[in-house]
Amino acid sequence: MTATATETRSFEAEVAQVLHLVTHSLYSHKEIFLRELVSNASDACDKLRFEALAKPELMGGDSELHIDVSWDEAARTITVRDNGIGMNRDEVVANIGTIASSGTRRFLEAMSGEQKADARLIGQFGVGFYSAFVVADKVTVLTRHAGSAAADGVKWESDGKGEYTLETAELAERGTTIVLHLGADEDEFLKGWKLKSLIRTYSDHVAFPIRVPEEKDGKPTDQWETVNAASALWAKPRSEIKDDEYKAFYKSLGHDFNDPLAWTHNRVEGSQSFTTLLYIPAQPPFDWMMGGRDERKGLKLYIKRVFIMDAAKELLPNYLRFVSGVVDADDLPLNVSREILQHNRQLERIKGACVKRVLDLIEKLAKDEPEKFATFLKAFGNTLKEGISEDTANRDRIAKLLRFASTKGDGAKQSVSLDDYIGRMAVGQDTIWYITADTYAAAVGSPQLEAFKAKGIEVLLMFDRIDEWMVGYLSEYEGKKLHNVAKGELPLDEGEKKQQEEAAKAAEPLLKKLKELLGDQVGEVKVSARLTDSPSCLALSDYEMAPHLARLLREAGQEMPATKPTLEINPQHALLKRVETETDEAKAKDLASLLLEQAEIAAGAQLADPAAFVQRLNRVLLGG
Ligand code: ADP
Ligand code: MG
Repeated sequence: MTATATETRSFEAEVAQVLHLVTHSLYSHKEIFLRELVSNASDACDKLRFEALAKPELMGGDSELHIDVSWDEAARTITVRDNGIGMNRDEVVANIGTIASSGTRRFLEAMSGEQKADARLIGQFGVGFYSAFVVADKVTVLTRHAGSAAADGVKWESDGKGEYTLETAELAERGTTIVLHLGADEDEFLKGWKLKSLIRTYSDHVAFPIRVPEEKDGKPTDQWETVNAASALWAKPRSEIKDDEYKAFYKSLGHDFNDPLAWTHNRVEGSQSFTTLLYIPAQPPFDWMMGGRDERKGLKLYIKRVFIMDAAKELLPNYLRFVSGVVDADDLPLNVSREILQHNRQLERIKGACVKRVLDLIEKLAKDEPEKFATFLKAFGNTLKEGISEDTANRDRIAKLLRFASTKGDGAKQSVSLDDYIGRMAVGQDTIWYITADTYAAAVGSPQLEAFKAKGIEVLLMFDRIDEWMVGYLSEYEGKKLHNVAKGELPLDEGEKKQQEEAAKAAEPLLKKLKELLGDQVGEVKVSARLTDSPSCLALSDYEMAPHLARLLREAGQEMPATKPTLEINPQHALLKRVETETDEAKAKDLASLLLEQAEIAAGAQLADPAAFVQRLNRVLLGG
């Protein structure tokens, strides 16, 4: 290399400003410099590959594009070299000496005025090259444009303080070499293992081999080893990827040793292009329900195959937090920061696409792979239910995927969809009936179901903790109202209404007696239209929380307002006959209290005084 005609130039004032900002306040992690330089090298290789399509001679005899990262402990340098497109003299000046790059200009516009204080904003603009000065106190660039003569190489050098030098250099090979002369405190980067680990972390799926010298006795040799996977699996067409490769890649994401349950791989082309490769695990991680849920790792954001960050929170709603995989966007600015991600419209669109793809995938399982779908529901069905409240736009799609046990289903098996239910509705039925409880047994044995059983009306049995809360957001599905059998008035036909009124009238003295016996333990005592076999049950108002849920919340330390229950009775039942005829006040009181307490127990409520209940029960059993 022979240098000629050295020229010293000043950075444009704005570049100096950018440099100052970058080196002083930009990166919370210095190590990102390597990602940025590798990314530029990868871009340069991409550009050459593209231009060589039309002009194959640009490749010369050197068509294996690669990126080499090496270090020299004695010289205290790190060198990043690529055999990509390279730059001529004007390009060097334009790309790294001025603010010709629109990113730099936009950055400065954004940073002027009152925003000046927020240096984090720099993250959204393409000013990655300058990050070299975060670790280096001098940077040398040697570059030769593909197709130009060896004598037309360029050497650029700067300490990043305000000036740079430019000279012509004889360079034997095309491409760009960037030499970082490390600052005094940066020795940690002068280690092969350190560089390799940074490359694997940040640049594993850069599509060109990134090579590092093999070491012998702790010294770099002139043999090169490739460090990265060098293949962005998701960037290949689907037809070229084997299932085993998809599975291996899933495991390489590092959250699960098992095979994934299913995946969906898509490329969107258009004004905004991006690729998504999304996986559904076969089982939840062991800490899924206990704190593990806040972590939300597993969905990686790449921009043009360069790893940017774990962005599960930004790219997926909470109820799909079990999904892992990769999103690779073509058009986002590299260096995008987390703050920026949260308000980025392009990203919103990508997020929408991710949600759609995942729901498509789950729908496909439901339709074509019932066994896998059952596995999915077992693992994440309750998580999916959160979407009913979280994602109103997709509420119907999510509701369609839910499965419940039912009085016409297969025991405790949760396999009945809302569509199944609607398909079995009687003519004229316009309500989807359900009951919520703590357990399957509590649901299926609930006295409130009796009238429905007698009439042959199907009732969905919901007994997952989240159900009562979830159906609160699902008041309607496919034009049918969802209604809890324990709440409000039952719709009765004319004949039934008449019967009901007559029964209520006949029972008036009994109702009055019960009300007196129970005092303020109850709000109201009514004749029930719900009961055929049991003596009593609780009825809730439309907006009242189910007792079992109120109990759970209270147990979890939440203040719950104490409401007075409405007691419904079945006057035909022998126990009510006994209350009617019991003349001993104390005995009548025991019976009345037991009627209320058994209704509360069946509804999963907490008894106000369990000891008193037990004593009462024993008195009555002993027949006093
Ligand atoms: P960005 O990559 O977002 O454009 P950078 O500051 O990282 O911003 O790089 C500025 C420009 O310098 C690049 O757009 C490119 O034109 C040029 N450049 C940087 N590194 C290389 C390289 N290794 N080979 C060719 N050109 C490069
Ligand atoms: Mg860059």
